[in-house]
Amino acid sequence: MTQTALAERLSEVCTRIASASLAANRQRDEVQLIVVTKNHSVDLVLELLELGESNFGENKDQEASAKAELVRLTNQTGINPTWHFVGQLQSNKVKSMLGYSSVLHSLDRPSLLQELVKQLAKSPEHSLDVFIELNLTQDPGRGGILPDHLIAFAENVLEAEQLNLLGVMGVAGLDGEPAKYFETIAKSSAELVTLAPLAKFISAGMSGDYEEAIRHGATHLRIGTAITGNR
Ligand SMILES: *Cc1c(COP(=O)(O)O)cnc(C)c1O
Repeated sequence: MTQTALAERLSEVCTRIASASLAANRQRDEVQLIVVTKNHSVDLVLELLELGESNFGENKDQEASAKAELVRLTNQTGINPTWHFVGQLQSNKVKSMLGYSSVLHSLDRPSLLQELVKQLAKSPEHSLDVFIELNLTQDPGRGGILPDHLIAFAENVLEAEQLNLLGVMGVAGLDGEPAKYFETIAKSSAELVTLAPLAKFISAGMSGDYEEAIRHGATHLRIGTAITGNR
């Protein structure tokens, strides 16, 4: 039987993740794959579930909430998906995001932290895993926490009992030199770990740069088009 194109691309990416991990002297299971399914259909998510993938990334609440609900209603694999929110989240979408997502990769500003705390307080048993998104551009107008402000912001995140701080997240710039961005992320991660030893995870690496990200310690890869294809 021939594999589908999706299965082939997934298998190619998984092979490359395994080789890059080995080459970096890292265990394969230190690195988690999140398939970014934004702009793609519910059917694609169902096919990925059948292929054994269960971690999915989305970057728009409206699309993600509808997709998560449809997957919930039609998924017959017996595997429960975990939805990762990876995009910029408007404060008025926090409540909706909490309805389906269990990991937020893009905690990027104090006002979002405030809103998370406020909404979570309504259900005291609910907790959310979060990464602090770094601004790697030196342009304070862009989203994300500047590396110099990371520790002060992380102290506030750690005070929020319903948030579980996993680590830092970053997106490499598009100038073709991802290594320098991943070095900054790794350095920020090392600083954060001195404050919060459990917040040791690093969300970094996309279709074009995930092998480089693995070399620099990434633990959560957010890979879209290399697996899903273009749309
Ligand atoms: C879209 C997206 C990805 C995946 O990008 P690809 O280049 O398709 O792998 C990863 N992270 C974030 C924040 C995204 O918005």
